Amino acid sequence: MKAILTDVTKCIGCSECVSACKVINHLPPDKPREWQKNDGLSARNWTSVLNNDKFNVRKQCRHCIEPACVTACPVGALNKSGIGAVVYDSNKCLGCRYCMMACPYGIPRYDWELAVPYIRKCILCYDNLKSGKITQPACTKGCPTGATIYGERNDLLNIARLRIKQEPDKYLDLIYGEKEVGGTNVLYITSKDCSLDFLFYYNNRIEKDVKLLGQPDFNEPYPQLSKFAMNSVPIAFVGMGAVMTGIYWVINRRKKIEKENKGIEDGED
Ligand code: SF4
Ligand code: SF4
Ligand code: SF4
Repeated sequence: MKAILTDVTKCIGCSECVSACKVINHLPPDKPREWQKNDGLSARNWTSVLNNDKFNVRKQCRHCIEPACVTACPVGALNKSGIGAVVYDSNKCLGCRYCMMACPYGIPRYDWELAVPYIRKCILCYDNLKSGKITQPACTKGCPTGATIYGERNDLLNIARLRIKQEPDKYLDLIYGEKEVGGTNVLYITSKDCSLDFLFYYNNRIEKDVKLLGQPDFNEPYPQLSKFAMNSVPIAFVGMGAVMTGIYWVINRRKKIEKENKGIEDGED
């Protein structure tokens, strides 16, 4: 499985990764909105770089090994691919935003600009890698310091372990993402003086959520943790599922009609 390793100690906060992502994914300029979280991510920004006085931390989808977003999606619009990327199918997405609620890292964002909106997030450059257009994600290729690198997950874990072993005074003895939420395909290492609070604050809501769920071990895959919450979902929400399925059917039908009409128009040209 492929993965990304970000070494917080090497990041200079230049945001070349952010620009490269926008270019390869043809993402238009962002329109910040009042209700948007202040973490730089949006439907048009799939990665961001957050800073405190001393450190810079890249934020993007973690491509969880057992993704809660996939489990939560009622129509199978999100899927875990064989290479490790969690990808989505906008034709299936019905815009219910269950994935946004389920994600422990607050990653998926809603595209408010579209008439038929759906969620957007980093897809680990899946389409371009699969087609052979690129051999590594644009963000890792664009990084001038090697702070964020791409490769086999096991190789990246070994690189991270080696760095920690070679400079034990510098690095915190933790590969963040090796075990958290059952493991992720985006890994982080950081220095001892970069507080974990900083990393956690910017990168997840897990500690808070785990406390709410009464589950002390956040190395458990998140879909299993969220079972506690899902078990107590009121019956009204089960009814919501039926409503959502209905909406999904209507949206799809509308899309089909649009496509058919377009076909007729094209035929007339
Ligand atoms: S970080 Fe969130 S959006 Fe990304 S795979 Fe994990 S659960 Fe899904
Ligand atoms: S992996 Fe691709 S889609 Fe994800 S942040 Fe990097 S450039 Fe963007
Ligand atoms: S391109 Fe590299 S050094 Fe620049 S902000 Fe991104 S991860 Fe950090």
